[in-house]
Amino acid sequence: MDVSRRNFLKLAGAVSAGSALGGLSMARPIHAYAKDLPTKGAKEVPTLCPYCAVGCGQIAHVRDGKLVNLEGDASHPISRGRLCSKGAATYQMTVNDRRLTKVLYRAPGASEWQEKPYDWALQEVAKRFKATRDATFVEKDGGALVNRCDGIAWIGSACTDNEECYLFAKLARSAGIVSLEHQARL
Ligand code: SF4
Repeated sequence: MDVSRRNFLKLAGAVSAGSALGGLSMARPIHAYAKDLPTKGAKEVPTLCPYCAVGCGQIAHVRDGKLVNLEGDASHPISRGRLCSKGAATYQMTVNDRRLTKVLYRAPGASEWQEKPYDWALQEVAKRFKATRDATFVEKDGGALVNRCDGIAWIGSACTDNEECYLFAKLARSAGIVSLEHQARL
C-alpha cells in the first residue's frame, strides 16, 4: 500500500491515541500495588536481643499491644542494626503457631504428654528440687564442714538478665550447689 506523508501522520496519530486510551484503561492507582509497611502506625520500642551476652540492639514494633515487627536497631552502639540468625528470628518467639503455651508433662515411663497447670509445674519442680537437695546434701567431708549439695548441677541461661542471674546464684548457693555455671551464647 502506498502511504502518503499525510496518511502516515494520520495513521501514526490514530495509533498513538489508541495506545494512550488502551494505557488509560489499564491504569491503576500506584498505591493499590504498594503494600502497607507492617510497621505503619506502630510504636517503636528499643530492646535487646534476649539470646546471648552480646546484647545486640533491637527495635520492637508494637501495635494495639501486639508485636508486629522486630528488627535490628541501627542506632545501637554495639550491633549497629545487625543481628545474627538467632537474633533475627526473635520475632518468632512471640508470633509462632508452634509456640508452646501450656505445660506438658511426661511422667517417668510414660509415652504420652499431659497438659498441666503452671502452678502444678512450679510446685513439682520445687518439691523435686528440695527432695534431691536433702537426699544429696553433704554436711561434712573428711571431718571438715562443707555443707554442699552433690546431687544437683545448675546451668544459667542467656535469656536471664543481671538481676535474675544474681537471684539464681543466691538460690543455688543457699542450697549448697557447687556445680553452678552460666552460659551466655547457646
Ligand atoms: S544471639 Fe545474635 S543477635 Fe542476639 S545478642 Fe547474640 S549475637 Fe546478637
